[in-house]
Amino acid sequence: MSKSFQDPLIINELKTKIHMLASEFGSRKIRICHVCGTHEYTISHWGIRSLLPSNVEVIAGPGCPVCVCPNEDIEQSIWLAKNGYTLTTFGDMSRVPSNQGSLLTARAKGADIRVVYSFLDAIKLATNNPKQKIVFFAIGFETTAPTVAIELVNQRVPSNLFILSSHRLVPPAMKILLEQPDISLDGFIAPGHVSAITGYGVYEPISDEHHVPIVVAGFEPADVMLGILAILQQLFHSRSKTENLYSRVVTREGNKTAWAAMEKAYSIFDAKWRGIGVIPSSGFELATQFSQYNIREKEEIPITSGTDIPKGCRCADVMLGKIYPEGCKLFNKTCTPESPVGPCMVGNEGTCAIHAKYGGHLDLID
Ligand code: SF4
Repeated sequence: MSKSFQDPLIINELKTKIHMLASEFGSRKIRICHVCGTHEYTISHWGIRSLLPSNVEVIAGPGCPVCVCPNEDIEQSIWLAKNGYTLTTFGDMSRVPSNQGSLLTARAKGADIRVVYSFLDAIKLATNNPKQKIVFFAIGFETTAPTVAIELVNQRVPSNLFILSSHRLVPPAMKILLEQPDISLDGFIAPGHVSAITGYGVYEPISDEHHVPIVVAGFEPADVMLGILAILQQLFHSRSKTENLYSRVVTREGNKTAWAAMEKAYSIFDAKWRGIGVIPSSGFELATQFSQYNIREKEEIPITSGTDIPKGCRCADVMLGKIYPEGCKLFNKTCTPESPVGPCMVGNEGTCAIHAKYGGHLDLID
């Protein structure tokens, strides 16, 4: 199946349709935003921007979980690792810089930090080491939040394992982007993975209230091209609906089992997003019922009052779609994937890291 979604003939056909439709808008610039690191990967890796007409632009929003994790949460994780806890987290997270350095630099100075591939690895570590106090630094969007929730709800989390939750929800961030006075967006490509959990129904109030087309798309190049075409078609017909083009994975209701677990395990709060600020109802914290696992309830964790974004780094503008990474003076000079200055240059889903690896404008078809 995936080969046909990469078929140059199909891509070329979609390109022609996009160009024909875009010409109907004359000199009007159409700005489409996506909020997913994997979509940015597809767009950059396959050179999709180079296939678009000059009046159609696809920009990246805050779609990288380690990028939006606030400085203070990283500082909290480092403090825990230096104060008697074994800190477990994902590999990308361990490299993200904070005002106190990264988790990896803390490990080099003796802090006990372990990279895990899932929450289940942290459970295994805690079960095998019952005398050790272990913390799982939980980051990610609706895609990863259920993995913690399901274990909590099913009472499979050992008592020596605690959680530092930095989970975030995507739809509130989409709303904030639409409400920014200096960012004008004509449509959204909604993230396929997140939508598989949330269902596409969560976007319907946003497309109705803000009068923008929102199209759920998959991650092959033809998926993204189809998404762009569908948004142009809606704009051409003055429509602003939520549309699901990823029906092979996404339904209107989403994953009900995952939602049921998340509703029990978490409460939703106004959460800070790195470089963006507080977004209403955008974070998951553990529900009171599970407070014995909430490390913030157990420990008074000090944090410094330093800045969220390092000096000279323009991650905030990158995540808000105001500039491309190439617009940052540090890009691929002092800031590289090997030596990241800001969070967007760290992981596989960071826009700056993706542009550094693949460029923003590679050609798909010779
Ligand atoms: S290139 Fe580096 S310094 Fe510039 S915005 Fe991206 S992460 Fe920040």
